[in-house]
Amino acid sequence: MTSLFPALTGGSADRPALRFGERSLTYGELAAAAGATAERIGDARRVAVWATPTMETAVAVVAALLAGVPAVPLNPKSGEKELGHILADSAPGLVLTAPDDQLPASVGALTRLDVDVHGTGTAPVEPADDSAPALIVYTSGTTGPPKGAVVPRRAIASTLDALADAWQWTGDDVLVHGLPLFHVHGLVLGILGPLRRGGSVRHLGRFSTQGVARELNTGATMLFGVPTMYHRIAEAVTSDPELVKALTGARLLVSGSAALPVHDHGRIATATGRRVIERYGMTETLMNTSVRADGEARPGTVGVPLPGVELRLVEEDGSQVAAYDGETVGEIQVRGPNLFTEYLNRPDATAAAFTADGFFRTGDMAVRDPDGYVRIVGRKATDLIKSGGYKIGAGEIENALLEHPGVREAAVTGEPDADLGERIVAWIVPADPQAPPGLEELAGHVARRLAPHKRPRVVHHLDALPRNDMGKIMKRALTHG
Ligand code: ATP
Ligand code: MG
Repeated sequence: MTSLFPALTGGSADRPALRFGERSLTYGELAAAAGATAERIGDARRVAVWATPTMETAVAVVAALLAGVPAVPLNPKSGEKELGHILADSAPGLVLTAPDDQLPASVGALTRLDVDVHGTGTAPVEPADDSAPALIVYTSGTTGPPKGAVVPRRAIASTLDALADAWQWTGDDVLVHGLPLFHVHGLVLGILGPLRRGGSVRHLGRFSTQGVARELNTGATMLFGVPTMYHRIAEAVTSDPELVKALTGARLLVSGSAALPVHDHGRIATATGRRVIERYGMTETLMNTSVRADGEARPGTVGVPLPGVELRLVEEDGSQVAAYDGETVGEIQVRGPNLFTEYLNRPDATAAAFTADGFFRTGDMAVRDPDGYVRIVGRKATDLIKSGGYKIGAGEIENALLEHPGVREAAVTGEPDADLGERIVAWIVPADPQAPPGLEELAGHVARRLAPHKRPRVVHHLDALPRNDMGKIMKRALTHG
C-alpha cells in the first residue's frame, strides 16, 4: 500500500471532497489544507483531535494520517473524568482544534494547534509502513471504561476496500453523514471511506430526517446511520413524502454500531420498498461482516464475512461451531488485516483478547443461518441470559417486545433467580405513558411469538433508556441503578 488517499494527489483536484453545512472543499483544497496542517504537526509523537462534527476535524485527521502521526479523536461531549483518562492514557503532544473551539481545562492544558481549512501546504508523502499506527480510537465504553485501540494504516485500507467490494462503493458515491467523528463509524467509514474512494461526503452537522431527505433528493447516493437514526426515519416515513422519495431513490442505506430492530427495518421497507443493509464491526476490528449490495438484506442479520476476514463461532469449551443451523450459539472470533494491533498501555487486556492462533475474541455471540449469514444474539457479558437451562439472547426478545404496539423502546437483561439461575427482565419505554403494557400482557406476547421460556418475568417501565452518544443502550446503567 502506498497511499490511503490516492485522490488527494491524483488528478481529482477539482472534484468535491467534503461539505459541512455551507463550507466545502475540493480534493485540491483538502490536499492544501491538510498539507499545511501536516507541516505544523511536525514530528509530534501523537496528536489529539477535538472531534466536533466539523470540517476542521476532517482536515486534522487527514493531516495526521499524511504526516504519519497517530491521531487520537476526542469526544467533545465527554466529561472531564473521561477526557482526563484518555489524555493521561494517550499522552498526545498537541491538540488540533477549530480556531473558535472552547476547550475544557484538561484539553486546554495541551499545546493547541488551530486548523486552517483554507491553509496552503504540500501534502507530505505518506509513510510506507502499513503496520504503523494511524489512529488510536477509544471504544464506546458500553461495557466498561473506554479502551484505546491502536489501529494501523493497513486496517483502515483493508476495511475500506472490503466495504467497497461489498457495497459496490465508488468515487461516484455521495454520502450523507450525520454521525459524530470520534468513533470508527463516523470517522473511518464516514470520512476516510469516501476520501479513499475519491467520492464525497455531505455532513449534516446534526442528524435530522429533513436533512437526510434534502441531501438524498439532491444527488447524494448513500446514507450511514446508527439504529436510533433509522428509528427516527421509521417514525417519520409515515408522514413525510419527501423522505419516502429520498429513501426510495437512494443507492444504499447502511446501519451499524448496534443491532437494527427488526420492527424498524420492516416499517422502513413497507413505506419505501427499500431494505436497510446491516454491517457489523468494532473499534478493534473495524468491519467484519456486511450484507452485500447485491445480497438479500435479511432483517436481524449482519450479512456475511467481508473479503479477507476469517470468522468463526466458538463455544465455551473452545470447540468451533460447525453447524450453520441458525441455532448453535458461539462467540464470534475474527482474524484478518482489518484488526487493531493492541490496546494502548494494556498488554494484559491485549493478550487476553487474542487466541493462540491470532483470532480476536469479540465478546459478541452469534449463530449462522444455513447460507452463512451471521445473526448476532448479543454480547456475552450483558446479553446472554442463562435461564432454566437455556441460553437466551436478549436481542430476539427485544425485537419481539418492539412488535407490541404499546412498546416504544425495549431492553432485556438477566438477573439472578433462585429457581431459574437467571430470570428475564424487560425494561420498557411505553408508547403511551398513561397506559403502559403490564407483565402479563408482555409475557403472553413474547411467549406466543418466541417460546414460553423466553418470556420476561419482570417488567420495569422507564421514561427513556440510558444510551451513549452512538445511541447504544448502556445495560450496565440499567442493572446497576
Ligand atoms: P466497549 O468495548 O467500550 O464496551 P463498545 O463495544 O460498544 O464499547 P464499539 O467498539 O464502538 O464499542 O462497538 C462495538 C460493538 O458494537 C460490537 O462488539 C457489537 O456488540 C456492537 N455492534 C456493532 N455493530 C453491530 C450490529 N450491526 N449489530 C449488533 N451489534 C453491533
Ligand atoms: Mg467493545
